Amino acid sequence: MSIIEKDTRYIMNTYKRFPVEIASGRGSLAFSYDGKRYIDMGSGIGVTSFGIADEIWQNAVTEQIKKVQHMSNLYYTEPCVRLAEMLCERTGMSKMFFSNSGAEANECLIKGARKHAADTKGPEYSTIITLKNSFHGRTITTLSATGQEHYHELFTPLTPGFVHAEPEDMDDMKRLVRENKVAAVLIECIQGEGGVVPLSREYVKELRRFTEENDILLAVDEVQTGNGRTGEFYAYMNYGISPDIVSTAKGLAGGLPLGATLFSEKLQNVMGYGEHGSTFGGNPVSCAAACSIVSRIDDALLEEVREKSRFIFDTMNGAEGVEGVSGLGLMVGIKTVKPAGDVLAECMENGVLCLTAKDKVRLLPALNIPMDLLKEALDVLKKACR
Ligand SMILES: *Cc1c(COP(=O)(O)O)cnc(C)c1O
Repeated sequence: MSIIEKDTRYIMNTYKRFPVEIASGRGSLAFSYDGKRYIDMGSGIGVTSFGIADEIWQNAVTEQIKKVQHMSNLYYTEPCVRLAEMLCERTGMSKMFFSNSGAEANECLIKGARKHAADTKGPEYSTIITLKNSFHGRTITTLSATGQEHYHELFTPLTPGFVHAEPEDMDDMKRLVRENKVAAVLIECIQGEGGVVPLSREYVKELRRFTEENDILLAVDEVQTGNGRTGEFYAYMNYGISPDIVSTAKGLAGGLPLGATLFSEKLQNVMGYGEHGSTFGGNPVSCAAACSIVSRIDDALLEEVREKSRFIFDTMNGAEGVEGVSGLGLMVGIKTVKPAGDVLAECMENGVLCLTAKDKVRLLPALNIPMDLLKEALDVLKKACR
């Protein structure tokens, strides 16, 4: 049996996979078993921040693997505190909790927000407002947080305590705050799975002002937008706001599972002994990988991300068959005249791996994708859009 046949036979068929069997890669190139070369414009789904099998990342991982690969959270390990210190210094946040995925980082965010509201306003203040068209994960609770009905179907009853506001509509937000006892508002600055839709600066700023005035926490889901993806360390930094809680995962450890939930000073002690935990959370190998990734997301790299972003926007905006380009940094959505799936298939045929989000082609290349590969990939993409 081929890999594809065995996958179909033995693995739950929850993914609509493409008929590509990846054997190896290097940087922004991936190679299949049949020897075909692909330019990787998705980096997992924004996970392999510095590409596939990157050498600096590999060294960080292998050095840690040789020392200790896991200890329970009953003991201290060094990579995990080094990473926490780095993330606090980069963000001004005060403390964090480590988990293994975006959904778990959001579960922790939700627990922290509810606990803080219960402590300061009363346990009835448990509602979390998220936005319509958002995506926050696949666990039952993060599904409930996700503001897209089609993810909810088949899995009811959902976790109570989530309501969904119309994005960019402060009146709708205010109505929901009047009608519910609200702990927090949770947003993605750029809705990723929702079709790479950035929130406006005015809305995010107004929301920060409104939540502050009404003693409501503002939490930002940076699972997809975080760790250099948008040309700032976290996407909220493009908006000039300071959130109370931030969750992140995807690109944080460059391809190993790691989630983090960052809390601001006023929430730093919101959860105490026994109130949260994770067996694998803060795994030393994942944390060593993340230290390597975070240390390389410096001002020069962020400028490079912004430059390549401008190149993508300039190249694709107004290209034949392209209706519009959205996003920030190296998180780009392209609305095409042809169905996005057809464009994707043609790109794949011609050696370029892209993603889709809703009705758009989505690009999430490695932050360090070489300019020549980026140009080559966009040439293929442009042809596929025609
Ligand atoms: C991918 C994603 C998640 C879920 O992350 P997992 O690691 O798949 O659990 C949550 N929020 C956003 C914004 C995401 O893009």
